[in-house]
Amino acid sequence: MTEVLSTGSTIGILGGGQLGRMLSVAASRLGFKTHIFEPGINPPAGHVADVVTTAPYDDEAALKAFASSVDVITYEFENVPTSALDLLESVTPIRPNRRALAVSQDRITEKEFLSGLGLKVAPYAAVDTNEDLDKALADIGAPAILKTRRFGYDGKGQARIMDMDDASSALADMAGAPSVLEGFVSFSHEVSVIAARGQAGDVSCFDPGQNVHVNGILHTTTVPANLTGNQRMDAVLLAANILNALDYVGVMGVELFVTPEGLVVNEIAPRVHNSGHWTQNGCVIDQFEQHIRAVVGWPLGDGKRHSNVEMLNLIGDDMDRVADYAKDGSVALHLYGKADVKAGRKMGHVNKVTGTA
Ligand code: AMP
Repeated sequence: MTEVLSTGSTIGILGGGQLGRMLSVAASRLGFKTHIFEPGINPPAGHVADVVTTAPYDDEAALKAFASSVDVITYEFENVPTSALDLLESVTPIRPNRRALAVSQDRITEKEFLSGLGLKVAPYAAVDTNEDLDKALADIGAPAILKTRRFGYDGKGQARIMDMDDASSALADMAGAPSVLEGFVSFSHEVSVIAARGQAGDVSCFDPGQNVHVNGILHTTTVPANLTGNQRMDAVLLAANILNALDYVGVMGVELFVTPEGLVVNEIAPRVHNSGHWTQNGCVIDQFEQHIRAVVGWPLGDGKRHSNVEMLNLIGDDMDRVADYAKDGSVALHLYGKADVKAGRKMGHVNKVTGTA
């Protein structure tokens, strides 16, 4: 059943980073209020939200007070502790649902789920010990990538194994965390689909974007992506398949490797996604508004793209170029209001509109 929230209702958002900030702006444009729950002080989302709770995820009193003051809860990152989610959900609905979080929090659970749907993933094996790693490498071969099962992002918690000699240092890099060895996928390029599903089960996908990563961090997303009509159709259908299987409500990012054997799913993110930022200047309804629409039970936008866009992340010192970007009328600047510029830190992004779709 669709539960439609009326304007003026409050959306609780777990996490106060840039994604929470842009969700808050979208919610406010539709007349909703937002309440951010974030352990860190002065979060980017706090500048544009109605209320901010600053508390850790084990503060039960703060979690209860937060949950009782909002009409629905959503999140901007997937690593919210289970105990906090249990408590929150006993008070107020969480969208997207817990299953989506559980599946995406652990790389092995995620790969089992995706393979169960008949989708292609990299060859993988669970690794906790040196013996596991030796066996996994014997089965999968090098090059391969060792990743922590949980809490990895932006290429963190990953070590490449080019040949067998790299194995023990790669395992040491995991610092004892349960891990997964992934075979190296020989892809021509990477794309992602930003897909949305509404409460009635309606699915709407944005056009796939083509992603370039530098040092494991997203550098650019370009639309349209270099895909054949069939590949584009495959990408969108497989994303819809994933959302339907999870009875998902909200926006999800599905990262794909393009290979001669077809599309291989790298990972799914049960939230708005960095590779969907281009939608802010390429579509009438962007991924942030789309997510808010889904969680409040409104109709979804159709995902249609009116412009071609190149999204470029501004990381660390890239902020020095802001004054130049500001002079370019084809560039929309989106800055996150972070006080300190740090190497590797996402400070903002630009969407360069490169033509009409
Ligand atoms: P991840 O954090 O898992 O999304 O990985 C970050 C980036 O590392 C990906 O976008 C790819 O560029 C690369 N990568 C990760 N896993 C693999 C793999 N199994 N094979 C080839 N490249 C990979």
